[in-house]
Amino acid sequence: MTTQEALQQYFGYQTFRPMQQEIIAAVLDGKDTLVLMPTGGGKSICYQIPAIVSKGTCIVVSPLIALMQDQVQALQTSGVAAAFMNSAQDERTQAEVRQQLLLGKLKLLYVSPEKLLTQSFLELLNMSQISFFAIDEAHCVSQWGHDFRPEYSQLQILKEQFPGKSLIALTATADKVTREDIITQLHLTKPAQFVASFDRKNLRIEVSEGTNRLKKIISFLKAHPKEAGIIYCLSRKSTETLCEKLAEKGHNVGFYHAGMSPEERARVQNAFLKDDIQVMCATIAFGMGIDKSNVRFVIHYNLPKNIEGYYQEIGRAGRDGLASETLLFYSYRDVQTLKGFIDQIPNEQFKALQEAKLERMKQYAEAQTCRRKILLSYFGEVLENDCGYCDVCENPRKQFDGTILAQKALSAAIRTKEEVGLNLLIDILRGARNQKVLEKGYHTIKTYGAGKEVSAFEWKQYLQQMINQGVLEVAYDQHYALQRGGLSQAVLQGKKKIFLVKPQRFKAKTTSSKTALQPTLFDELFEKLRKLRKQLADEQRMAPYLVFNDATLTEMARERPTNQAEMLTINGVGHRKMDLFGTYFLEEIQQFIKEKTLAGKQVGGNTYQITYEMLQQGLGLQEIARKRNYSLQTIQNHLVTLYEKGHNLPLADFIHADEVNTLVHYWKKHPQSTMKACFEHFQERFNYFKIRLSQAIWLKSKPQLK
Ligand code: ADP
Ligand code: ZN
Repeated sequence: MTTQEALQQYFGYQTFRPMQQEIIAAVLDGKDTLVLMPTGGGKSICYQIPAIVSKGTCIVVSPLIALMQDQVQALQTSGVAAAFMNSAQDERTQAEVRQQLLLGKLKLLYVSPEKLLTQSFLELLNMSQISFFAIDEAHCVSQWGHDFRPEYSQLQILKEQFPGKSLIALTATADKVTREDIITQLHLTKPAQFVASFDRKNLRIEVSEGTNRLKKIISFLKAHPKEAGIIYCLSRKSTETLCEKLAEKGHNVGFYHAGMSPEERARVQNAFLKDDIQVMCATIAFGMGIDKSNVRFVIHYNLPKNIEGYYQEIGRAGRDGLASETLLFYSYRDVQTLKGFIDQIPNEQFKALQEAKLERMKQYAEAQTCRRKILLSYFGEVLENDCGYCDVCENPRKQFDGTILAQKALSAAIRTKEEVGLNLLIDILRGARNQKVLEKGYHTIKTYGAGKEVSAFEWKQYLQQMINQGVLEVAYDQHYALQRGGLSQAVLQGKKKIFLVKPQRFKAKTTSSKTALQPTLFDELFEKLRKLRKQLADEQRMAPYLVFNDATLTEMARERPTNQAEMLTINGVGHRKMDLFGTYFLEEIQQFIKEKTLAGKQVGGNTYQITYEMLQQGLGLQEIARKRNYSLQTIQNHLVTLYEKGHNLPLADFIHADEVNTLVHYWKKHPQSTMKACFEHFQERFNYFKIRLSQAIWLKSKPQLK
């Protein structure tokens, strides 16, 4: 069997993702291999396919028992002979697995590092036919990584005891030190190294002020009904309080943190995996074991400690490649709290490192430029253009001259002897008459009330920006008092202008109006398939996303296959899953088509029709493309075709009347022109979509020749 056939037959995918094929080739070539890919990038297939097509058993070292079970179940459901072994299993089960291994019946055996390192297991391996070793979450070998596990540091034993066997190490942690460390610790010899792009294009990135968080979350959840998501909180306590508040509002929520009993943790995690709990409020203890592919959003209630952690956490959204949301709340208070934790670190060098990392995190959260660019540059990648899919790109910031505000703030700070913190300074600037102000007599200073016209909310943002620019400084050792920064002199003397950015008001990005409007045929069928999936999953006692993931379900609802052959062309429908579940889904789809046809609707998987319906719902082209998992270009083509077929479309939304005039004029003069010639004629001023659309408009308006 070729690797391509294995991909199709077992996983139901038609094509490899970037790099998967090269990695698989290297592994099959017997090379040691190091793979760096972001969470959700598709690492598993890189060792699973070589394991399937090789002789013998691949031994996979994986740190978490829960994850192991999931992966093995997923493989078995796809028809791959896989098993796992760990110390939590009873002796009989372990004996069975041992037997299967010795008889050469397994393609993959997952094992925890503790188990692997036992003398008895190593002896067992010596008696078995091993194809190669795979080390998942390989960054756990490194003390520099953020997830060091002592057992992992003994894995060099594999190369010592099985020098002839190759080893593939996989991780989503990208930094260089960790990478080098993995190679050294595992004794990899001249490994082939693969570093995939860390850009997760399907994740929308947003950072919002950490004010009114609860209200914002509630409006966010309203815009994302029925979608699974994680809300990360800094403290155990806050996971519980947030959970309670959301439950009061009728949301289906749970909480998770390391202070709970192992049984309780396992129970809620399982409920989340099975779609029984929709939203999980959790500390970062809820993490590595979450392989669930249909997590549609990740919210950070608090600022994370560093960018690595943040990126890994948001990476848990949208593993299936469908559009997913990430939202980070940023508050100054969180920075203070995190600073407090760092202050307690005894080792000076480590402390300095953590401080620097927190600083980068803070800069990211406050940035007014494309966020994805910043993130990727952190991982050493350059993004040529702004991403267009983060809050800054969607809402470019406007700057204004804030020199006078800066002077007022500085003057107030100086007149209070540089002893007051952020909030009190705002009270003074706004002329608040509260006890603290009156007690100290701050209401008598000259700048008292000098900044009345600016809201407290805005002052907070502006002071923050002034701190970042060096106008003010925070004295961390003096109760966070605001003091003169390096630029203060120049600003006060009017020698330096300061530019500030007006804060953006949060509006929960709603795929919005959709909830209010009629669901499309696509939505309706997707919902039916989702229910069916849940029912089948419950019967099989497995997580719904292991039956089929959201991407597969989306494709089914879009393509509406009506027979087995068509069903097998859907991404994610392999042979085994076709046998297990395919028929049920086919029946559901046929039933749906029948009902709709009876009701006089045109269905039968007409892709243009679906786009048309969505346009009528008021969705934009980008939104339709994301929702349907098509490229924007495809949807633009649909639009032109629909127009040509005589559908009534709000053309003004897509092209300006002046542009139509200019372009139609061009077509009249150059009826034989190609798109490309037109594109070049206008020196790339109009994109191809507008060019095509204008041509269609022109062709329609042209008097028909007899
Ligand atoms: P990682 O371990 O890197 O976080 P996974 O191996 O879990 O990622 O893969 C993430 C998702 O992508 C899974 O749902 C997987 O089935 C899917 N996937 C992997 N490779 C492909 C492919 N070639 N085509 C389509 N989907 C894929
Ligand atoms: Zn951007």
